Order: sequence, then C-alpha cells, then structure tokens
Amino acid sequence: MEQAEIGLIGLAVMGSNLALNIAEKGNRIAVFNRSPDKTDTFYAEAGDLRDRIIPCKTMEEFVASIRPPRPVIIMVQAGAPVDQVMEGLKKDLSAGDIIIDAGNANFRDTIRRFDSLKDSGLTFIGMGVSGGEEGARHGPSIMVGGTEESYKRVEKVLTSISAKFKGEDCCAWLGENGAGHFVKTIHNGIEYADMQMIAEIYGILRDGLGLSAKECSDIFGKWNKGRLESYLIEISELVLSKNDPISGKPMVDMIVDKAGQKGTGKWSAIEAQNMGVPATGIEAAVAARSLSSFKKQREHAETVLGLPSAEQIKSIDRNQLISDLELALLAGKIGAYAQGFAVMTEASKEFGWSLPMPTIAQIWRAGCIIRSQFLDDITSAFRAMPDADNLVITPTFAALVKETDGALRRVVSTAALNGLAVPALASALGYFDSYRRGRGTANLIQAQRDFFGAHGFDRVDGVDKHHGPWGSGLADFA
Ligand code: NAP
Repeated sequence: MEQAEIGLIGLAVMGSNLALNIAEKGNRIAVFNRSPDKTDTFYAEAGDLRDRIIPCKTMEEFVASIRPPRPVIIMVQAGAPVDQVMEGLKKDLSAGDIIIDAGNANFRDTIRRFDSLKDSGLTFIGMGVSGGEEGARHGPSIMVGGTEESYKRVEKVLTSISAKFKGEDCCAWLGENGAGHFVKTIHNGIEYADMQMIAEIYGILRDGLGLSAKECSDIFGKWNKGRLESYLIEISELVLSKNDPISGKPMVDMIVDKAGQKGTGKWSAIEAQNMGVPATGIEAAVAARSLSSFKKQREHAETVLGLPSAEQIKSIDRNQLISDLELALLAGKIGAYAQGFAVMTEASKEFGWSLPMPTIAQIWRAGCIIRSQFLDDITSAFRAMPDADNLVITPTFAALVKETDGALRRVVSTAALNGLAVPALASALGYFDSYRRGRGTANLIQAQRDFFGAHGFDRVDGVDKHHGPWGSGLADFA
C-alpha cells in the first residue's frame, strides 16, 4: 500500500479536524489514537476522504505506514501526555524523522523537548495552531518553530492546509526550537486582551446605557463593517443576537459571568514580566478573568460596598458615546497589539530567534481567533518599518493613536465616573500616556530607592555622582 506523507496522533476535536483537512488537501495521512475506538469512529465518519487515510491500531503499524523521513504530528492533551506519546513513538522512529507537537505547549517545554532530541537523529518541531475546531478543519493559522531544514520537509503539507489571506499562506517558519509556540502564546495573550476590551465595551452598553443584548448585537454588527472588522467582533454580534431555547431570553443573559482560562494568557503575562516588557492589556485581561471567577465574593462585596451611581452617563449624548466606544476599542486594540509585538521583539533577542514581525502579523490575518482587517494594517506597518521599536511609532499607527486618543480618554473617564470596570481599556490609556512622555516620574522612584537602599541613580547632566544628599549615614554621596 502507498505510504502516507505524514502521520497524526490524537483524534480528539483538533486532531481529527486537522487530519481531515490534511487528507482533503490531497495528502495521504496515517492516524493513530490511544483509544482505538476513536480511530474507528473517525475513519467511519471520514466519508470520501477515507481513500487518503490509513487508520492504525498500533504504534508499529502507524510508523510503518509513513514514508521516511517521517513527519508525525502529535495533537494530544498538552503537558505530560505529549512527553508520554513522544517516549512511545521514539523507539519506532528512525534518524531523520520529525516529531511535531501541534498542541498548546508552553514554549519552555518545547525548548526542552527540542533539546532532548538533539543527539537522537530525530528532530522536533513545536507548532502553534490557531483557529479552534473550525480553523483546524478548514484552514488554521500555523506558527512553526524548529530547524528550518525540518520545516522544509513539511512546508508543502502545512501550507496546503493553512488559511489564506489574499492568496498568501497563513503559515510560516518563525525560528528555532520554541519560537512557534512562543508566538502562539502571545497570540493567545492578545486574544485575551481583545476579548476583555470587547466585554468592557459591552459592559458600558449594557450597564451604562441600559441596552439589551439585541441592541448591543446591532452595534457590534455595525462596527464589524468598519475598522473594527474582525472575527471576535463578528462572533460578539452573533452570540448577542441568539436567544436561549429553554428560557427564551437572550442566551448571553443566561450565562454565568465566570470566565475560564487554560493558561496561555497567564503564560504571556508571566513571560512579559520576566523580560521586563509591559503587557498591561494582557495582564488586565488575565486578572479580570481571575476576578470574574470570585462570583460569590463579588456578590457579597456588592451588598457591602454597593454600586457607584451610573447617573452621570445619562447626561452624555448617546450617539456620541457609542461613536466614542468604537474608537476607544480601536485604541485599546492598538495598545494590546503594540505590547504583544514588543514582548515578541524582546523575546527574539533573549532566545536568539530573529522573529519576523511582518510575517507574524501576516500569518495572523486569517485562520486564527484574532484575525482581522486590523492585522493587515499591522503587516503593512511592519513591512514598511520592520525594526520599529514599537507599533505605535509607525506612521499609520501613530496617526491612529492620535485620532482615537480623545475618544479613549472620554470612554475611560466616563466609565470611571459611573463605576463601570474597564481595566484593559484604562491600561491602554495608561500605557500610551507613559510611553509617549519623554520625561516621566521615575526620577522620584530612583531618589527613593537611593534613600532607603543606596541603589544609586544616573544624573541628567551626566556628572559622575550617583547618590543624593539625603542625610548622614543613609547614602554615600561623597
Ligand atoms: P484534548 O481534549 O486536549 O486531548 C484529548 C486527546 O489527547 C485524545 O486524543 C486523547 O486520547 C489524547 N491523550 C490524552 N492523554 C494521552 C496520553 N497520555 N497518551 C496518549 N494520548 C493521550 O484534545 P483537543 O481539544 O483536540 O486539543 C488538542 C491540543 O490542541 C491541546 O494541546 C489543545 O490545548 C490544543 N488546542 C485546542 C484547541 C481547541 O479549540 N480545542 C484550539 C487550539 C489548540 P484518548 O482518546 O485515548 O483519550
């Protein structure tokens, strides 16, 4: 029997959809799942694509079904299961074969796995796949990390299954070892911030203006035809328009306000903190999800503290406020993306990856959860200025920051005056105001640090004296 071009282990939601996508694009694929009944079901339901699928019940049979050098995608639960599958697989593979982890791995695990195979003759690819179930089936955004040589072996299959934006593949090799999974992590961090800011705007519409879910849906629908056009705005319009079949009420009103999280947002915030790069939008979004989970405490606090009055908002022209909300959301997005790209710029230096910023923006334009028109503008901005320190100083985005500045200020201050929580939007405003100010206030912090810890400071005049005249014995300023 003709051997498969590629193999895939793990036939749950993501793996089975990815396998069907691979087969549909004309590639022969061998599949294996720990529980064989899933393999049977998958094969039985594969329809016409069965001709290109080799279902396998043992690891030996699976490996023998793939043409060497064998690329094997692992799409199982992230964490220890990946190591267990790798251990089981290694003994049947031979030199030149490539193990590809396509799950949501922590990039530090990816670096460890990459290094662990270094002298084995096998190579490791850590591959971020975004777009959920639908993306896996019809075209995800694919972020690849590993050796460039191993990527070349699988490039044809991967680009055949990836999403396309204006004919360009949303799949690219981004650097060695953990580069792909790092970029996927930051993608998810930005996704957290984007979702949080949309939720904050919804909160102003619902609790400030008193709009119904349907009215909120109509506003998001209108925005989706403008500069905010994106998958997340599109699905917000959709979910806000649906009614619950049980109660007949808007579905969104029947959902408990406790957000789940699997870890990639937190990892983004932690890595940003480790590198000393501000990612305040992502941090605010992770914190907001955490706070959302304290439902009982929040309910109790409301009885103890009460809610601030939301009366002031009634004196504002409603149409003006809605128009401001659209621009404020755009401004907040710029802040979150600018921070995400700044984190990747620093990581690129720290881990020696040379991450290509224009390419990253390019492969996020379609297939992934944060796909949007906006990412096409980021791609153009970074293509014109690939080494920009920060997205906000590129000409297009500098102009956008200036244009949306007033609206962001009005929205954040209106929210504050009416007791409506907008931590992510407020963090964007704080970020812009801190980043754009040539003379900040850290001189006082340096003076305090020198006072209590003799930590020293640099002087604005360059004079070689690094301690202040704080008093005897507190610091050496002689
Ligand atoms: P999942 O629910 O995370 O994992 C289930 C799969 O893992 C099953 O095939 C299961 O095999 C296998 N598995 C678990 N432990 C195993 C072990 N010790 N040895 C061998 N196989 C083991 O699957 P998923 O939702 O399809 O996600 C797969 C990966 O994609 C994860 O890393 C996930 O984070 C990532 N991801 C998911 C989404 C999404 O929307 N779901 C989006 C992007 C990325 P059995 O059938 O034998 O139990």
